[in-house]
Amino acid sequence: MKAVTVPFFISHQGCPHACVFCDQRVISGSSGSLPSRQQISDTIDSWRSSAAGRPLDVAFFGGSFSALPEQVQDELLAPVQSFLESGVVRSVRVSTRPDCLDDATVRRLAGQGVSVIEIGVQSMDDDVLALSGRGHDAAASEAALRCIKEQGLAAGAQLMPGLPGDTPAAAFRSLERVIAAGADFVRFYPVVVLAGTPLARSYQAGEYRPLDLEQGIALCKQLLHRAMRGGIDVIRIGLQAGDGLNSATVLAGCWHPALGQLVRSELYFDLVRQIAAAVPDDAPFSVTCHPSRVSDVIGQKRRNLARLRPSGISVRVVPDDALLLEEVVVEYLGHCFKGNIITDLNYNISEV
Ligand code: SF4
Repeated sequence: MKAVTVPFFISHQGCPHACVFCDQRVISGSSGSLPSRQQISDTIDSWRSSAAGRPLDVAFFGGSFSALPEQVQDELLAPVQSFLESGVVRSVRVSTRPDCLDDATVRRLAGQGVSVIEIGVQSMDDDVLALSGRGHDAAASEAALRCIKEQGLAAGAQLMPGLPGDTPAAAFRSLERVIAAGADFVRFYPVVVLAGTPLARSYQAGEYRPLDLEQGIALCKQLLHRAMRGGIDVIRIGLQAGDGLNSATVLAGCWHPALGQLVRSELYFDLVRQIAAAVPDDAPFSVTCHPSRVSDVIGQKRRNLARLRPSGISVRVVPDDALLLEEVVVEYLGHCFKGNIITDLNYNISEV
């Protein structure tokens, strides 16, 4: 049964750094105060009431959990213990910096019920990390991922394509390295330039240019494809729409409230275009896909269908739950051509 995530934001708490892109208060929409024991218990209780029997996953997002004083970490985790024992809460997830984790820390967190640790890797290129003011190198991320895995916990890695000094090829190598280091899942947050950050000042001075929306989609599409090939879950692409982002806070960069769907939709467009290449331009055809992928095949505002047949000739999209999520079948005059995103698409990263 799919769990419901109970989020707690510990905005910027515990973090002694100032990465050039970061304004945690904007991203989390929180003032930075920590929830009390009572607030944590009450929040879990109230989510339990609305979860209709589904298990809960408690997640401490933002900030750097393991950089908080140990006593504060204990205070945050203590109220969750009884919910873990009763089975109401299935897992506890924390996010932190790679240089704030070692074997002893991971063991201590695991002993308090933490089963998933996400680290802000952002890049595995040391020059990009230095230019972004991260204060750690790629080796620290590899060591942290190894630590998490060795203790039997699930490891997540957040990557931020488009940072100063980054290139599509470097972003791709970053993904390759976190996969090799054992990440179980990743999130892609292409850079968004937030007002008031050092990155905003570089952008306004003309010293830095982020990926725009189209460039970000083109790159994330290839990163997503690589992750799918590696069997790695991509659990998020792009910052959440409700993250305090708006036209006043976002100056530039790759941001769209439904970025993940735009990216996934590109994979289906590429696959259908590839396997429908044999269909004459003026012929109607149908595309069959898994029911949960119909909107990805169609594209936002029917963009994919319009690009597949600019003349307006009909392309019918048919759901079929016998297909895998990544499969489509193109049918034309009784001929069927089946394709699979993972095995049939090939990208050349240098073309981004
Ligand atoms: S480590 Fe995380 S919380 Fe700290 S400044 Fe960087 S991005 Fe922000």
